[in-house]
Amino acid sequence: MYFDSKDALAMVEELRASYNSGKTRSYEWRVSQLKNLVKVAEHHEQEIVDALRSDLNKPEFEAYVHERDLPTSPSRTHSIHIYSHSHTHTLFFYLSVSSSTMGSMAIEEEKQTAANPFDEEAASAVVKELRASFVSGKTRSYQWRVSQLKGIVKLITKKEREIVDALRSDLSKPELESQVYEISMLNNSCKLAIKELKKWMKPEKVKTSIAVFPASAEIVSEPLGAILVISAWNYPFCTFIPDILCFPVLSLDPVVGAIASGNVVVLKPSELAPATSSLLAKLLDEYMDSSCIRVVEGAVAETSALLEQKWDKICYTGNGRVGRIVMASAAKHLTPVLLELGGKSPVIVDSGINLQVACRRIIVGKWGCNNGQACISPDYIITTKDFAPKLVDSLKQELENFYGKNQLESKDLSRIVNPHHFARLTKLLDEDKVSGKIVHGGETDKTNLRIAPTILLDVPQDSLIMSEEIFGPLLPILTVEKMEDSFDLINSGTKPLAAYLFTNKKKLKEHFVNTVSAGGLVVNDTTIHLAVPSLPFGGVGESGMGAYHGKFSFDAFSHKKAVVYRGFFGDASIRYPPYTKGKLRILKALISGGISSIIRALFGWPKA
Ligand code: NAD
Repeated sequence: MYFDSKDALAMVEELRASYNSGKTRSYEWRVSQLKNLVKVAEHHEQEIVDALRSDLNKPEFEAYVHERDLPTSPSRTHSIHIYSHSHTHTLFFYLSVSSSTMGSMAIEEEKQTAANPFDEEAASAVVKELRASFVSGKTRSYQWRVSQLKGIVKLITKKEREIVDALRSDLSKPELESQVYEISMLNNSCKLAIKELKKWMKPEKVKTSIAVFPASAEIVSEPLGAILVISAWNYPFCTFIPDILCFPVLSLDPVVGAIASGNVVVLKPSELAPATSSLLAKLLDEYMDSSCIRVVEGAVAETSALLEQKWDKICYTGNGRVGRIVMASAAKHLTPVLLELGGKSPVIVDSGINLQVACRRIIVGKWGCNNGQACISPDYIITTKDFAPKLVDSLKQELENFYGKNQLESKDLSRIVNPHHFARLTKLLDEDKVSGKIVHGGETDKTNLRIAPTILLDVPQDSLIMSEEIFGPLLPILTVEKMEDSFDLINSGTKPLAAYLFTNKKKLKEHFVNTVSAGGLVVNDTTIHLAVPSLPFGGVGESGMGAYHGKFSFDAFSHKKAVVYRGFFGDASIRYPPYTKGKLRILKALISGGISSIIRALFGWPKA
């Protein structure tokens, strides 16, 4: 029977329905399925051995030793489907078709760019030079890594004023936000890496199994090679964090991780923040080892030229549309990707809380982070119909306390990055079904690219503002009959980068953590999970893949190499041909049995 795309779709839908029902999340379900797999291996041992003999003429001994733990015969339950070889071919065909379509999208965009000073040839030359440095081994040493991380610390300490000025020129970013969310954050990131690097680089000893006794094993973190970091405009130096304790990211934070892991790196900053892009190019050239770390400035054409090259990992921060282009380009070289994307990050607000504190924390996460132009800024609020008026009043009051009466002109708010994004945001506000829903703000200044903090109440869910990531100073509030409905509302959309809940109720917190899937969750605050370096930062589903920050950055740009050490002592002849029934019995006991089955096997006694 031919397994076509319709079958594939039906299968995926069936599996998703099972996933959405929540059954796969329970401990009991997982254990029962794992036990079933064990049963398959135990009860169908002979069928497995026969199938392997039929496909490969595999000796029973090898089938048992190498394959027994993986059931190979097709099985079908509600949530586990294993299809035959020809079926997987069909799926691979669909994957390759869609990736080539994406690839041609990138090529189309490239064609549209007229001038192309940094072309594929130039990109190839840069990669070649950097690879030569990598092959020389210089980036592997602890000393080189630390010297480069110290270079970044020096750069931000000495050029603080220039950084603040560039951020003001690109985004009108208030100095305090630049100092706190970009400069000090980046500093912290480098210092943590310098402090922990020896520990991170040390091979990790792991247990071995009785099957390989006597032996020792360890995991060695090795650099991947050449890393491409493509960054976005909103936090050109570092990620934002609305708290003094924050931790860094964007342009330079992945670079910190790539250097700490011993790689060579090309950074492609965003053309939408031109002052910071050229400052980054100048400063990295001055302070870093340019034989290993480069900045390539430019827009789509330059990024496309870079994407044509073979990299060992690409870290992209930006929107999902370009994320798909990046992933399709990476697929041509089987290059892994770290995609830091966005999404609609919800805030659920329950009654019976300290409303003033909640509102202050929502405001600082929304408007205090680049005026809402931040990936984990609250995108919309969900609350109950009864509580909404109280919430709106409190938000208005705190906004006035923070930004005064004329919020459009507040010096403590960034402007919109460019006319394109200004037009996009005003279009969201101007939609007929939305314009009448403004309960606060709504003022705009096209000349200076400013939009005042704006709150909208009860916007329809099929409005434009609810169908795309807002990434700006507009905050819609949706209302539900009861708090629990908000979880279904969130789960009916794509998985966001962050989700926030304000409540005092233990049950609601538990329900939130257990049922809402997002890159990160915070209870009773917003955005501060980035301030915890021991937590990974990254998206899930549409909000991205892979994670970084702190040790996770080191791991993101390292390969975890499995290494086993043996001596020449204890060379057991049972693993070598000719395979005999006696050897098979002992091996079975060694691999799956406890000590008693090993003794039984050695003495040739039957199974207990
Ligand atoms: P952007 O326009 O600066 O683009 C990002 C990068 O992609 C730039 O370097 C740009 O040159 C490159 N690029 C743009 N078009 C391209 C194309 N056709 N081909 C190849 N490269 C191309 O940034 P943006 O996308 O507007 O950034 C905003 C988005 O990024 C939002 O969705 C936000 O949520 C997300 N974001 C995510 C994070 C995170 O850490 N997860 C951080 C910041 C922003």
